[in-house]
Amino acid sequence: MNGYFDYNATTPLHPAARDAWLRASEKHWHNPSSLYRDAGLTSQQLESARERLGDLIGAEAERIVFTSGATESNNALFASLPADALVVISAIEHPSVREAVRGRNAVELPVNASGVVEVEELKQLITSKRPALVSVMAANNESGALQPWRELAALCREHGVLFHTDAAQWLGKLDAADLGDCDYITGSAHKFGGNKGCGFLVLPKEDSRLGFIRGGPQENGRRAGTENYPAIEAMVTALEAITPRLSEIQHTQSKLRDGFITEMRARFEPLRVISESAPRLWNTVLMVMPEHDNLKWLTRLSRRGFSISTGSACSSGKEGSSVVVTALGASAEELKRVVRISGGWETTEADWQALAASFVEVFEELNRGGKPQ
Ligand code: PMP
Repeated sequence: MNGYFDYNATTPLHPAARDAWLRASEKHWHNPSSLYRDAGLTSQQLESARERLGDLIGAEAERIVFTSGATESNNALFASLPADALVVISAIEHPSVREAVRGRNAVELPVNASGVVEVEELKQLITSKRPALVSVMAANNESGALQPWRELAALCREHGVLFHTDAAQWLGKLDAADLGDCDYITGSAHKFGGNKGCGFLVLPKEDSRLGFIRGGPQENGRRAGTENYPAIEAMVTALEAITPRLSEIQHTQSKLRDGFITEMRARFEPLRVISESAPRLWNTVLMVMPEHDNLKWLTRLSRRGFSISTGSACSSGKEGSSVVVTALGASAEELKRVVRISGGWETTEADWQALAASFVEVFEELNRGGKPQ
């Protein structure tokens, strides 16, 4: 049994990514900026990985800057904007966007009762406030709710406004072939079977303002520091390995996830599933349990071999800090009962059933008021 249900926090290394990382580390460990032959070969490999990533996400390779992950990409983008630029971010952005715009001239775009941004709301904001840039994530990390980024990007283009999407949760779970239609895209390798500490930011071709990490002239002068070619190779290989399987995985995994919700509903009443009526990532369930604090659920499930989360990993540990459930106007008491389950590409029906059965066991234990077994 695989009891890991926290894939939105991070994922294990994909076997193909592991092989690619080892091969690259052994053969192409040279500094791609050095001038001898072996370094040149590493540089060629790096540029070929950039091309391959560009093909997967529908963006020209020269638009891609490799970074240390989504947090850096988001921070780098906002740091590159003029100090007085007005930015719009959705109310459910990841802390790495929310914190990056702190102190800036920023307006929050609300979400509807399903936790989704409405195109019409953005249209009004654009017409009344004329922002320089709009940032709306592609898929939410807590609820899995998909945001209408294609429509939002088109609307922004029509009005001459730049559009950024944090696609950290979309990439590797849904087809990304037309993400390149967005002006800026954030991605993170460890969310889809790559290494931690590796990611990218896609920029418009002509944008050379990025100077968040300063030093050498790497990445066309846009991000200093020796490129982590082995991790980049592993990231691209993971995405190449998963992409052809995505529609089949989406089909089978969403059924298993929905079966889990049905099972839970039969046992727990009332069970509130956040964004249940919205299109969501096939692996995610964010729910408000009818009783008991989320940390009690989490620790007891953990003892039984299941890894789940309270809200998002970036805010867990801080009880009641779900960005999404807060944006939906939940009470402080409800916030303490939020749990997030996120399965993976290979999660089986038996894994989901075992998790549901464990929820029932934990519930009985908590109701008995007894000590954990
Ligand atoms: N954005 C989103 C939507 C995320 O889910 C995460 C990871 N929790 C991040 C940004 C940060 O990613 P990283 O760990 O690569 O910095």
